[in-house]
Amino acid sequence: MRYVSTRGAAPSREFDDVLLAGLAEDGGLFVPETWPVFSPAEWRALRGLPYAELAARVMAPFMTGGAIGFDDLQAITRASYRGFDHAAVVPLVQLEPSLFVLELFHGPTLAFKDLALQVAGRLFDHVLSARDERVTIVGATSGDTGSAAIEACRDRLRVDIAILHPEGRTSEVQRRQMTTVKARNVLNIALSGTFDDCQDLVKAMFADAPFRTELRLSAVNSINWARIAGQIPYFAAAALALGAPDRPVAVAVPTGNFGNILAAWAARQMGLPIERFIVGSNANDILARFLAANDMRTAGVVETVSPSMDIQVSSNFERLLFEALGRDAPETARTMVDFRASGTMKVSREVWQAVRRDFAGLALDDAATLAEIARIRAESGYIADPHTAIGIAAARAAAPVGVPVIAAATAHPAKFPAAMHRAIGIRPGLPPRLDDLYDRQEHFVRAGNSLGEVETLVRHFAHRNDA
Ligand SMILES: *Cc1c(COP(=O)(O)O)cnc(C)c1O
Repeated sequence: MRYVSTRGAAPSREFDDVLLAGLAEDGGLFVPETWPVFSPAEWRALRGLPYAELAARVMAPFMTGGAIGFDDLQAITRASYRGFDHAAVVPLVQLEPSLFVLELFHGPTLAFKDLALQVAGRLFDHVLSARDERVTIVGATSGDTGSAAIEACRDRLRVDIAILHPEGRTSEVQRRQMTTVKARNVLNIALSGTFDDCQDLVKAMFADAPFRTELRLSAVNSINWARIAGQIPYFAAAALALGAPDRPVAVAVPTGNFGNILAAWAARQMGLPIERFIVGSNANDILARFLAANDMRTAGVVETVSPSMDIQVSSNFERLLFEALGRDAPETARTMVDFRASGTMKVSREVWQAVRRDFAGLALDDAATLAEIARIRAESGYIADPHTAIGIAAARAAAPVGVPVIAAATAHPAKFPAAMHRAIGIRPGLPPRLDDLYDRQEHFVRAGNSLGEVETLVRHFAHRNDA
């Protein structure tokens, strides 16, 4: 499988290169040159497979032509999902006659990102050992993504990972999920600064060409195609369980960077009858405004009770835009460059309507989110975290009549004890595996908000592991 850039000015690449590169050289995002399609009979044959097997089969067409053969991939998915807390890996829970919650939070960090990152970390190791190379992954986190990335990379042989978090500005659960990992190839940096300072320092490290080359810097952020590929299988598994490819389904996802909902859309490109894609947003409602009124205008980020969706610009939207523009890469590039410059995305009425045929959106502010958590608990006994509750509300508002909706549950409610307490008066407990999280020793180093200081720390850490 070859990949092209959404902006059309970078050469096409094989999967292995796309995995290691992340972003294309022209600033675009990689997409498959053609979508692999399974026939209805091929889909039916996947029904009932253990999740790791199904995941390998759904992902395999995206990885052909490189170092990852089918048997390698299957070994990787088995290892990735072995440690999940639920035998079904991604269980489906029925809340209402036509509403099903797809629980994606049974992995090591209790959020859906584990599903793709556990695989991505192992894919990195596999491709790098075939090439006899190493990389240093650097990233910034406000809490959630950092721990999922650290869990994905810990104990990998070819990868070192350094994650910056703003000291004192992440929740204690989130900080401890990162800092209690004891592994030779993991470095936690507690920065005296804000999340934006952390992000600026990561960008500055990538912009420092000699440093980037010396340490072979890499990233596993949500624009990496491997992340999307690792999220397609669970939408396929849920759709198959509800009767696809012989009956249509709809999907609802609490959305930030648009990666998870795009994976659902990719499942339809592969031949599954997903009739509608429902986007839930919080007060950062840029996508909902776009879907309602073709108004995609950036505003300042607002802090909410669903922090993983406190995002301005949904980077993966560019992949959908590219397809909605009929794969016109120059037009995609123009639209994105103009969006960056003006803060407003201008798409024609025809393109907007084409997107609206498939996508619907709903935004909830914090009060509505907390009320929705309470309503769900009262009506079905289910305890949904704030992100999941937003997705469920969107599902109920925009589901097509007579079609079962799969609502993605993206995080375990124990990750957000303060919001849960405000909504329903209880603080859900952590799974037994994390019972002693508060007793474990933390490992981190402190740094000032200085590029030189942070680069020195990362350099010493990475070279220590060269030996
Ligand atoms: C990352 C995250 C999201 C947003 O997912 P995107 O793929 O960025 O749209 C939603 N909920 C939770 C709990 C998350 O961690």
